[in-house]
Amino acid sequence: MNVSRRPRLIILSTGGTIAMTAQAASGGAAPEGAALRLGAAALVAALPQLQDVADIFARDVLAKPSASLTLPDLAEIAKAAAEAATSADGVLITHGTDTLEETAFALSVLVQVDVPIVLTAAMRRPDQPGADGAANLLAAARVAVSGSARKKGVLVVIDDEIHAGPLIRKTHSFRTHAFSSLPFGPIGYVAEDRVRFALSPAVAPPLLTFGAGAPIVPILEAGPGFERESLKALGAGAIEGLVLSLPGAGHVAAAAAADLGLLAERIPVVFASRTGAGETLRASYGYAGGEIDLIARGLIPAQSLDARKARIALQILLSGGARQPDVRAMFQSF
Ligand code: ASP
Repeated sequence: MNVSRRPRLIILSTGGTIAMTAQAASGGAAPEGAALRLGAAALVAALPQLQDVADIFARDVLAKPSASLTLPDLAEIAKAAAEAATSADGVLITHGTDTLEETAFALSVLVQVDVPIVLTAAMRRPDQPGADGAANLLAAARVAVSGSARKKGVLVVIDDEIHAGPLIRKTHSFRTHAFSSLPFGPIGYVAEDRVRFALSPAVAPPLLTFGAGAPIVPILEAGPGFERESLKALGAGAIEGLVLSLPGAGHVAAAAAADLGLLAERIPVVFASRTGAGETLRASYGYAGGEIDLIARGLIPAQSLDARKARIALQILLSGGARQPDVRAMFQSF
């Protein structure tokens, strides 16, 4: 990079609370509450300090609450980010917090470039007391154009912390400190205008290619109360893949194991640990419904991915026409 010129930062907006303001009481049919009103240009205009960080170029990609994002939406965000990365020193994506982790994960498997791709969000609307969007946007902009953020994969900057995109999760429903990368932690932080990295992600996720469509892949969480009838009620005929969120290292009720094995003969059935940390085991528990039994019946361990990330990975793989052996092989990279 030519150090004498100002960095170029492309900001892509996709929606979320950071782009919402309160809606005045309406007489019409629209629900009261917050509504999406601010595009990328408005977010930039509201924060003049961004101009001290870089030359800013703003673009609207989507305007959605993040719970409404679809798999093709994630692919569209990835495409926009990859395109932006060809002409910028950093790419910053504003997003809703609710499903930020799915998008961060999807980007980390779909866009692998040296240019920093940074996501940020807000827990409070710009019109609320203690709004956090502007501070997050400014910190994220600093990270996105920082030379030290290059080649670190997709990052999330929120609450002055820098997180590795594949690790972060939303772990609180309303407070401003709502994200964590447990059992690890943030890999850096932003102090005033200084971007500090303490750690570098040691492994890059595999590179996947989005094909087309939005394969039907529900997540089913098991535990006491999950019986084989729950599986039948799911209407297994229509689904193209299934992700199970299982207790412990990947264990299900013995009574459900055979049905899951039958299902795994037709469609990929991936099982993840529901604990939120660690990974699925392969060789520790051999009872019916234990991970050894499930793997022998054709189920695929998600390894370090939780169910949400496993679903995104499986949907992307199926969107490109992957078959069971491809899915099994790819999940070994997680
Ligand atoms: N509902 C919002 C969303 O789009 C919440 C947020 O951004 O914090 O995810």
